[in-house]
Amino acid sequence: MPDNARFTYRVTDGWLRDLASEPTPTDPWPCIRWDERLLEDQIRFLNVQTELGVDLNVVWGLFVDRNWPVPLENIIHDERERMLRRFVDAAHERGVKVLSGVGVYSWGFDEIIRKVPGAAAGHQNAMCAHSETAWEWQVKVLDFLMDPRWGLDGISMQSADLGRCDCMACSRLSPAQHHARLLTRSAAYVRQRRPDWIIGQASWGLRVDQPEELPYLQEISRAVDYMVEVSELSASSGRRREVVEALDCAFGSVGGVFVEPPQHWDRLRWFVPCGLGSAQALRRLHEDGGRACEYFYRPFVNPGEMVSWLAGARILSAPETMPEDALQEAVQAVYRAEGAACADLAAWYARAEGAYFSRARFEVGWGSLSLEPLIWAENPAISGPPVYLAERMSPEARAGYAVSLETLKAEFGRIAIPNREAAHKTLACIDGTLEEIRRLNGG
Ligand SMILES: [Zn+2]
Repeated sequence: MPDNARFTYRVTDGWLRDLASEPTPTDPWPCIRWDERLLEDQIRFLNVQTELGVDLNVVWGLFVDRNWPVPLENIIHDERERMLRRFVDAAHERGVKVLSGVGVYSWGFDEIIRKVPGAAAGHQNAMCAHSETAWEWQVKVLDFLMDPRWGLDGISMQSADLGRCDCMACSRLSPAQHHARLLTRSAAYVRQRRPDWIIGQASWGLRVDQPEELPYLQEISRAVDYMVEVSELSASSGRRREVVEALDCAFGSVGGVFVEPPQHWDRLRWFVPCGLGSAQALRRLHEDGGRACEYFYRPFVNPGEMVSWLAGARILSAPETMPEDALQEAVQAVYRAEGAACADLAAWYARAEGAYFSRARFEVGWGSLSLEPLIWAENPAISGPPVYLAERMSPEARAGYAVSLETLKAEFGRIAIPNREAAHKTLACIDGTLEEIRRLNGG
């Protein structure tokens, strides 16, 4: 296969524990505890991503969760550094490069904003684009990440997820103009010092589909290797090819639909397969000339999540694969089903996916689907309610969904599935969803 047929930037990414087989039910999001069990999960994930040719891994939370400390020193202890080195070495042995997610002017700067006069101009989460003090702290963070002792291979930047400075001077800049200023300066700083690094950028919180913003996106594209659009608005407005052609870097998405791994929940509490939709969305992205994807981690201990990840990831390395075939390969890998049983199981998965997405107020391409609220305002340290059912479906739709799930369970029991453990876990996940619906509908 000619190399230009594949996606150029085949990235998987997430918060450190998004792939964990154990939840952290009593920690505020994002929990970044790193223990042996998590490292085992990460190695398993590395093995699977290597098989699928996904050779970049962006991690959020390698060093800090919400705050870079003031002063910026003693960031991690020796034990965490050893974990990091074991993970990075394992990735490199498999030909996988490790990038750190990094906030630019926001995400990680709350303590700096509180403690360092002049870093921000009123915003609680975002530093001011016109403050040289802010730039000095951004540089400290970038210098820290570039330290060769970590063994990292690049960064993926986000600047817009928590908003932006709204002082008089910043307000005169359009959103893309504002973020281009921060991102290009940061990228140039890194590029000069680490020309070997990969520099990605994900536009959480920033629209990239508006024609008047295109010149600023072009500026960003000259500074980074790839740019990711989170909600695929450029596709829905029919402008994506035009955007792709205007940019100097690879352009991409988060893969159609990204089910946010619910940090607090038991790993077998939900069953929301979306691999077919992701594979279809990635095929469309590729047809539009897109060559990058930040395809989010899934906890593989949940078989439905693993099927979803595998189906989409297949398209990144082999975009000519039909989505239905990608799904069939995924169920084959997870359940070891063969022949007619494998085809039946893939068809069953497609129906299961349709059972949720045909009823839920969610469209593929909208970005992320939260199962529980990422941060539940009432108590950030406990499980939140199942908003994917409570807020995206009417009680009637939920009742219909429950009927469909019961039917799916019966059908599933009639398919010959060699991997019994995966089969049992799948049924447990469906039961978890049914229990959720019973609680919501008062049944
Ligand atoms: Zn400002």
